[in-house]
Amino acid sequence: MASDYEILGVDEDASIDDIKKAYRALAIKYHPDKNPEGKDFFQIVSAVYKRLLNLKRSVNKKPERVFKKPTGIDLIVNLDITLEEIAWGTKRPIRIQRKGCCPDCNGTGSQKKARRTCNSCDGSGLSGIAKILKNKNPCSICGGRGQIPEEPYCKTCRGEGTVPEIVRETIIPTPYSEVITIAEKGNYFNGVFGDLIIFLKRKRHDHYELKGLSLHGSVEITPAQAILGDTIKKNVLNRPQSIRIHQGMQHGDVVTIQGGGLQYGTHVGDLVITVRIKTPVIISKEETELYEQILKIEKGTTWPKVLKI
Ligand SMILES: [Zn+2]
Ligand SMILES: [Zn+2]
Repeated sequence: MASDYEILGVDEDASIDDIKKAYRALAIKYHPDKNPEGKDFFQIVSAVYKRLLNLKRSVNKKPERVFKKPTGIDLIVNLDITLEEIAWGTKRPIRIQRKGCCPDCNGTGSQKKARRTCNSCDGSGLSGIAKILKNKNPCSICGGRGQIPEEPYCKTCRGEGTVPEIVRETIIPTPYSEVITIAEKGNYFNGVFGDLIIFLKRKRHDHYELKGLSLHGSVEITPAQAILGDTIKKNVLNRPQSIRIHQGMQHGDVVTIQGGGLQYGTHVGDLVITVRIKTPVIISKEETELYEQILKIEKGTTWPKVLKI
């Protein structure tokens, strides 16, 4: 499997600017507006781009964090979302467990609510080997804080300074949401909360497929509806929609309802419905008689020529 760097065609030490440049070039080439076949790849590229950008931004922050003793740790979670949830700007409540600040020791890990300088790293927060190699590995004793709790340790958090905590948030995913970042809703570390980074994974829908902002689905109609035309009321992702079946519609014909798709900013997609004519298998006596009459009429006429009975 190709790595994120390989997909974007950049080196692992690429800068944020390099990543943006590479993404822009790929976006121009594979954007669905220009290259419908590139849609899937474009989606992958977009996800990779956001992932790398987040990674680079957090890495760029890290040297600072390590030297100034790290603060806050980002909490990264994956969340499955349905097409319904991204369709109409629905609020999606989320409930996530993070490392909260221990209330009994104010996050110090100490019963005295006090900390002292870590002997192992002399307060630098860097591991001994890391200091020589100028590496950025945090000290294994203090975890990069530069300080350790004064004994005795807090009994509630066993010196960790953190306790599990439930975070309740509301997100509003859009059709293009891939990553949602909520500031300071991540894990507590060294006095500060990191960010909560939510990677959204869209679940496949049983009846509809999203292409850009357009929704693609199908509808089943009877031969009578196809011949005479009809209006079908259909629930499309929890929204009522009227689908006009024209007289003489053929199996596989497409009804496009402009503006019936999803909305993003000022852009609105269409609802694209493929018509499927379904022949009834079980019919009543009355229907049988009527169909027999139709058949008789059809056999007695030479029109339309497309009917070869
Ligand atoms: Zn240390
Ligand atoms: Zn505690």
